[in-house]
Amino acid sequence: MEPRDLSAHSPYVPGRGVEEVARDLGMAPEELTKLSSNENPHGPSPAAVEVLREYAPKVHVYPKASHTDLTERLATEWDVEPTQVWVSAGADGSLDYLSRAMLDPGDRVLVPDPGFSYYGMTARYHHGTVASYPLSKADDFEQTAAGILDAYDSERIVYVTTPHNPTGSELPRAELVTLLDRVDEHTLVVVDEAYGEYADVESAAGLLDDHDNLAVTRTFSKAYGLAGLRIGYALVPAAWGETYARVNTPFAANELACRAARAALDDDDHLEKSVETARWGRDYLREELDAHTWESAGNFVLAEVGDASAVADASQRAGVIVRDCSSFGLPGCIRISTGTREGTKRAVEVLNRVAREVTEA
Ligand SMILES: *Cc1c(COP(=O)(O)O)cnc(C)c1O
Repeated sequence: MEPRDLSAHSPYVPGRGVEEVARDLGMAPEELTKLSSNENPHGPSPAAVEVLREYAPKVHVYPKASHTDLTERLATEWDVEPTQVWVSAGADGSLDYLSRAMLDPGDRVLVPDPGFSYYGMTARYHHGTVASYPLSKADDFEQTAAGILDAYDSERIVYVTTPHNPTGSELPRAELVTLLDRVDEHTLVVVDEAYGEYADVESAAGLLDDHDNLAVTRTFSKAYGLAGLRIGYALVPAAWGETYARVNTPFAANELACRAARAALDDDDHLEKSVETARWGRDYLREELDAHTWESAGNFVLAEVGDASAVADASQRAGVIVRDCSSFGLPGCIRISTGTREGTKRAVEVLNRVAREVTEA
């Protein structure tokens, strides 16, 4: 007895967790600065934590009102109909729902390379195939409509990440509008705004009224600091009506996550602090790292360090975990998430030292 042929499915490679690394190194988790998964160094909003405590004794019931309340809160926030808000287990869950809603077997999606691996994975899970458009290091990973359309061959879904992980580049609004106008009628453009809060531009959600071939994904995992709860959402075209009810996993977003997300949405102070620290951190990393770096609109910076796997290993041994970007198809580069001010400073000090040692070795 065997599962079906999964040889085309490559496993997702996450940044390593603090506990596993600490165990390997024989260190206490507190001694480590984890800057490998773009998490919020300030933790979750205290208001969200309070709600988690309050509702923990009530998780024996299925989430119902909590899900509806979050959906309605988000609909108000984005000025869309509640049916346009697809709450899911992380934004990754939304990508799955979009695949379910859009893909017939054999349909192709177009994804950025380098880019977030889950776009291709979810397409394959849903019996789709994957093509890519290049973002080139030589052009500083610039994102343009022309660059995407060059590779475009009438795919069913085109994925755009802005700010882009792991490069930090953005697709300007005018370019997005061009893309939306030029793709074929049956193509959905998915704009992944997992890092949207850190950028200095408006969300693509504002284009939903005028473009019925656009979906936007957002998450509570990054700026809201709720990665462990797995909660995110997609904003979809109004014309899709009740489609969500046909594709969603029953009760996919859990009670605590829905309630905490709503509390986090109301905690402006925590969000502001998180964004401010990230903006400070990306500037600091760019100024202070002895490496070529790229401008970033996210809570991370991509840096070219030569032997990236040696640098990432040495840095980890010194207590700072960063992401080797080989799995993104960017050998030679590491991605450093912004930490607290203290954590970011420590990262710069460690990385500059170990990069020197690796080069001299
Ligand atoms: C982190 C991330 C997501 C979503 O993460 P979830 O935790 O599933 O919400 C989506 N896209 C990109 C590019 C990301 O980096």
